[in-house]
Formats: sequence, structure tokens, C-alpha cells
Amino acid sequence: MSKKSFPLDKAALEEIARKYPTPFYLYDEKAIIENVRRIKSAYSVFPSYKNYFAVKALPNPYILKLLAAEGIGADCSSYPELLLAEMAGIKGEDIMITSNETPAREYSAAKKLGAVINLDDITHIEFLEKTAGLPDLVSFRYNPGPLKEGNAIIGKPEEAKYGFMREQLLKGYTALKEKGVKRFALHTMVASNELSVPYHIETARMLFELAVEILNKTGVRLEFINLGGGVGIPYKPEQEAIDYEPLAEGIKKAYDEVLKPAGLDPMGIRTEWGRVVTGPYGWLVTRAVHKKEIYRNYIGLDACMADLMRPACYGAYHHITVPGKENAPLTETYDVVGSLCENNDKFAIQRQLPKIETAAESSTGGDFVVIHDAGAHGRAMGFNYNGKLRCGELILRKDGSVVQIRRPETTDDYFATLDIPGVKNFS
Ligand SMILES: *Cc1c(COP(=O)(O)O)cnc(C)c1O
Repeated sequence: MSKKSFPLDKAALEEIARKYPTPFYLYDEKAIIENVRRIKSAYSVFPSYKNYFAVKALPNPYILKLLAAEGIGADCSSYPELLLAEMAGIKGEDIMITSNETPAREYSAAKKLGAVINLDDITHIEFLEKTAGLPDLVSFRYNPGPLKEGNAIIGKPEEAKYGFMREQLLKGYTALKEKGVKRFALHTMVASNELSVPYHIETARMLFELAVEILNKTGVRLEFINLGGGVGIPYKPEQEAIDYEPLAEGIKKAYDEVLKPAGLDPMGIRTEWGRVVTGPYGWLVTRAVHKKEIYRNYIGLDACMADLMRPACYGAYHHITVPGKENAPLTETYDVVGSLCENNDKFAIQRQLPKIETAAESSTGGDFVVIHDAGAHGRAMGFNYNGKLRCGELILRKDGSVVQIRRPETTDDYFATLDIPGVKNFS
């Protein structure tokens, strides 16, 4: 069981909502820091470890800076994400760019920053050489194909567009060596939101065995191995969070059994976790606006799937609580929905919840409805379809204060790219 908590009570939330109207994202700084310290401590079994936070999970420089102060780097996949890392003061090889179908100017920008460039295909060696020049250190992304089972979000590796096949890797490292590259790394990312510890350990073992094969067949000694992201979080209360210690210890056992005898110790271990770093410590805070009773009973929120699209996109479960009614009996069955003109705009379907009071029924603004585990791949996946303006982001700081780290979008933002003579922006 995982406990679904929210760091503020209803009165504190009322206070905050007076200044920052709902909907908004709220992140818990203290909980994020404590979490990354637990990760760091578990992974201290390795001679060298670093997580590159997957910027796409929560692309806010305030958060990136917070993480950087704890020794975490940035995993970027685009030019704007490189700029975000730079804004947060993350430098050089503390940035890794794992991109695909990458335009030349992104490689150039990454090279200029001294970031670790992770190539997605064997043809990109020449592309990188021609466009940006080969850096000292080059990493390759491995796609194990049918050797590894994927999962629901990421699909089967052999159907995934990413990475090199095994033979291509061997050829690729040899080509790099001939071109004068001195430092080498290996990466894979085969799962997403995976809660099985043995799965992650097996992936590491597979990469360690590959590192030995690379050494034996090409003479290339890898400097580090990036095990990717994809560590899951318990979205459902009945699921269990991954325990970092047994995970790190299981990977260390494979390290000792495979890498050490091959003379590959010390080997740098890297990860690019996003979800597990911030996911459980962010909430989408909304208010119930309307109640509707037709064939089913609906609660309409002031947020919609433009603010959080995981439920609509993957049918993902996000736990929902009503502050002030944490212990109230779950007497109602609702579909909790947003305002988009799409019938999949539902945060929850046929969910048992306490009786919710809406703004329409109340003189005090109606109940807050808190959507849990929204701290990663939440606000970042938002969009503007239907003219929806994405909500802002707040952080609950260690001292208990709450500050806004991204304001909500305005119509000016929505119209900012309209560059039509004679059409002017409205405010
Ligand atoms: C999305 C992604 C990650 C982060 O995944 P999480 O599930 O958030 O840990 C890491 N690496 C790559 C290449 C990705 O595409």
C-alpha cells in the first residue's frame, strides 16, 4: 500500500487559493529533496553515480536548480531543454542529451555546452561529425529488440524507433575509435513506469554483459553506463513504491558478477530518472465547479486534460482526494471531468468519492479536488487545444511558504505567435 497524502489542509489551501486561484500545480520542495537524498544514499554502493533528471518530466528551472544543488544533472532531448538546464546552472557533462531525429543545431548546441551526446542511430555518427564535429566523449543508445520485454507505456523494444541494434553498436564503437574519439558510454531506456525491481536489475545486467562484449570485440572500454529512466511510482494506493536499496544492491550484485571479473571496475553508473524523482511530490489542485446527473453522475472541474493528459492519453489512474473530506465515507460514484470538448477528458471514471460540493452549489467556492502524483509528466504534457490556457505552478518551500514558479497562461500568451498583419493581440 502507498499512502496518498497532501501537504496542506483545507484552511491553508483556502488561503493560497485567494492569492493564486485554482487550478494550479503544487510541488513539495522538502519531500523532493528528501527523496533525492534517499536515492543518492542507496546508489552510494557504486564508485561513481549520477542521475540526470529527465527535464521533460518537470521542465521548470526552479526545480532543476533545486535538484542540481543535490548533485543531479539534466537529461535533455531538445534545444529548449538544453536552455533550461543552462538556466538552472547545470553545466558540461552534467547534461546528457538523449534525443532522436535530432536536428543539426541541437547537436551543435549540445556540443557547445560540453554535454554528453547520446546518439540514437549508427548514421548519426557521420551526421554529428559533419554538423557539430565529434566530441571527446560519445554515448550510444541500445535497443535490445526481442531480448527485452517492454511494457504498456513504452511498448516492445523491437517496435520502438529508438537506439542501435547490437551489431550496429559494435560497428559504431569501432568507427568512433578510428575517428579519434577517446571516451565512450552506453545507454538504454526500455521501460516506462515500471515497478518491478527484478526488471530493472535484469536491464542493468544485460547492459553490463554488453559492456564486456564491447570490450572483448572492439577493445573499447566504456566510461559509464546509463541505465535510463522508467522507474515507476505507485499511482494506485494498492501499489507499492520501489525500494531504492534492494534495487541498487541488486544492480551492484550484477556489477560485481559481470563487470568486475572483466576488469571493468570502476564503471560509472548513471540513470535518467524523471517520474520517480518528482512525480509523487506534485499535485494538480482544482475546484469542483459543476455537478451533473444524467446516465452517470459527473463532477466538472476547473482543470481539464490540457492541464494533465495522462488519464486521457494512457487511461492512467491518478488518485483523487477532497481536502477536508479525507475521512468522509465514499458514498458517491462520479466521473470527474474537465471542460474540453473531448469525451476522454476525464480525470477519473466511475470513481468512489465522498459527496462533493461544487462552486455552483456553494457560496464559498466549492470543494477542492486534489489530483495526486502529478509532479512528473503533468503540467509539461499540457497543450492549448480548444483554446485552453495551461495553469501555473507553485512550490511549497521548506520554510512552509508558497511561491509561484510559473504563472498561469493568459490569452496574450495564447495569441503571442499570431503574426498576421492587421490582427492585433487582445489583453
Ligand atoms: C522519458 C525519458 C526518461 C524519463 O523517464 P521517467 O519515466 O520519467 O523516469 C529518461 N530517458 C529517456 C530517454 C526518456 O525518453
